[in-house]
Amino acid sequence: MDSPILQDFLNELHLKYKSMRDGVLANYIPELAKADPDWFGICIVTVDGQIYEVGDYEQLFTIQSISKAFVYGMALEDHGRDYVLTRVGVEPTGDSFNSIVLDESSKRPYNPMVNAGAIATTSLIKGSGPTERLVRMLDMFQRYVGHNLFIDMPVFMSERTTGHRNRAMAHLMLNFGMIDAKIEEALDLYFQQCSLMVNCRDLAVMAATLANNGINPIIKDRAVDSRYVRDILTVMYTCGMYDFAGEWAYTVGLPGKSGVSGGLLVVVPQQMGIGIFSPPLDSHGSSVRGMQVCKELSERFGLHLFDLQ
Ligand code: GLN
Repeated sequence: MDSPILQDFLNELHLKYKSMRDGVLANYIPELAKADPDWFGICIVTVDGQIYEVGDYEQLFTIQSISKAFVYGMALEDHGRDYVLTRVGVEPTGDSFNSIVLDESSKRPYNPMVNAGAIATTSLIKGSGPTERLVRMLDMFQRYVGHNLFIDMPVFMSERTTGHRNRAMAHLMLNFGMIDAKIEEALDLYFQQCSLMVNCRDLAVMAATLANNGINPIIKDRAVDSRYVRDILTVMYTCGMYDFAGEWAYTVGLPGKSGVSGGLLVVVPQQMGIGIFSPPLDSHGSSVRGMQVCKELSERFGLHLFDLQ
C-alpha cells in the first residue's frame, strides 16, 4: 500500500466523521462520562514500523475491554492452550459484554472476551501474590506498547467500588467451581487491567505486534509467544465485538476488540495494526466513529480476510 495514499485516506476519514454526533458516552462510572465526545484519533502502524496518524492520537484513555485479548495471551503463556481451554471456552455468546451467561454443562464461561470469561482468564495469571501478578501483567502490556504504562487510579477505584455486576459474576463462577476462591484478588487485577492508560498509537502498536506474529515492530522485542497469536486473533475475530461479532466479521472481516471508553483495536495479519479512539458508543458498546472508520478502511484497501479478489 502506497504511504501517501494511506495518510491521505486517514485524513479524509477523520474529516468525514469528525462532525458525526451519533452515540453516547459510557456512564456506568462518572470518570468515563467526563470524556470529550469530540476526541477522535486514528493511528496505523505497519509490521515494518511505519506510523500513520491523525487527530487526537496522543489523548490518553483507559484500555478497558481491549485488555482482555492480551491477558488471554498471557494466560495461554502461563498454562498452555489445553489447560486454558478447560477453564474458559471459545464460543461466541451473541450476548452483550456484561451478560451473565455461563456454560454450566462444561463448567466454563463461554469465551475470554465477555466479562465473565475475562475475569476467569485474569484469575489464571500466575504470581506469588497480587503485587507480583500486577507487575507481570504490566510487563506484558509494556512489551506490547514499548514503554511504561500507568493505571488511572480514579477509574480503577470507581470500577472497584461500583463493579457489582462483575463481582456477582465472579461469585456465580465461584459457586459453579469455575474460578478459584480468591475472587477479590482476581477482580482487583481485572479492574486494574481495564484501567490502564493508553492512547490510540499504543493500540496500533499493540495490534501491529499481533499482526507481526508477536514481535513489536517498533522496539523489535517479542511480546508474546508466536504459538498463541493465532488463538488471540481467533477469539478476537469470533467474540471481540460481543453481540455484533457476526456482523463485524461479515463487513470488516478482521480480528478486532472494542472497549467502553471508546478505543478500538484491529489487526490486519501480516500487514498492520489499527488503533482508533472516539468515546461515543453504539448500542453494542463500540465506538461509533471507530466502526465507520474500520468499515471504510477494510473496503477501500480490500482488507477483509476473505476478500480474495
Ligand atoms: N471495565 C468494564 C467492565 O468490566 C469493561 C467493559 C468493556 O470495555 N466492554 O464492565
